[in-house]
Amino acid sequence: MKPEVPIEVDAATGAWSVDGIPMILVPRHFFLNNHLAIESALGVQKYSELLFDAGYKSAYVWCEKEARTHGLKGVEVFHHYMKRLSQRGWGQFRVESVDPQTGRARVQVHHSVFAVERKNAKACYMFRGWFPGALEFVGGKKLKLTSNEIQCAAEGHEHCVFEAAPR
Ligand SMILES: [Zn+2]
Repeated sequence: MKPEVPIEVDAATGAWSVDGIPMILVPRHFFLNNHLAIESALGVQKYSELLFDAGYKSAYVWCEKEARTHGLKGVEVFHHYMKRLSQRGWGQFRVESVDPQTGRARVQVHHSVFAVERKNAKACYMFRGWFPGALEFVGGKKLKLTSNEIQCAAEGHEHCVFEAAPR
């Protein structure tokens, strides 16, 4: 099938965008090679912390823009985010449960790009900040959330599971 996201290309600059947000299309191996190079230099612990903050911020801003573009409200924004991530090839994000009041959520990720080539470790920590960023946009900044990968397909599980909860 064809992509389900509305990709636009600027005729003058060649820049790609989806819903007015600039995008870059890159080979997955290029992205993962960069990711693994930084992981081996910094170590998982340090890299994971840096990615949490960067991912949180990016998710929050993305949700803000998309809510405006599509006129989405409340938890719809979170579901839209999970749908778009799935449509953009990161993996298939399936929301098991979400409570927008408390920010608690449980999300399955099937076919995560990070789990494809890894073994015996939780591989998908780049996603960690994305759930709190989106859920704090939905529930308001009064929420202070964190999230963790509870199980990973790279460890031999059927799929990955993330839980978001108050810190
Ligand atoms: Zn995983």
